[in-house]
Amino acid sequence: MNIDSIKNGIVIDHITAGNAMTIYGLLGFDKLECSIAIIKNVSSKKMGKKDIIKIDSNIDINLEALGYIDPGVTIDIIRDSVLVDKRSVDLPEKLHGVLKCKNPRCITSCEQELEQIFMLTDRDKKVYRCMYCEAKA
Ligand code: ZN
Repeated sequence: MNIDSIKNGIVIDHITAGNAMTIYGLLGFDKLECSIAIIKNVSSKKMGKKDIIKIDSNIDINLEALGYIDPGVTIDIIRDSVLVDKRSVDLPEKLHGVLKCKNPRCITSCEQELEQIFMLTDRDKKVYRCMYCEAKA
């Protein structure tokens, strides 16, 4: 893959420097078969340093997980080498299947098929609580 130009794919830009690998792991990019480029510590006028992830395929991005890890990122959608869409993410109100409740007495510990849902309870401090037992994430 040419690092500079993607024909059809996604560029995750303005990642806080150092967060690229966390995003890579939590969004399951290690399971993808397509080419992926992780570019770390790119100079940025706005941010000083930033990370960028380029994915050479139009995959579905888990925007909830992305917003949870790094609410400032932008997503560029590229089709036929043209930027067709630019999206920004925000801290999501709810997280579905992103975090796992660590409370051993939580109903999600015994009912494995229950979806893990966390709710944002404090936007400033970025606090999420389990919807079932209210344990902090
Ligand atoms: Zn819980």
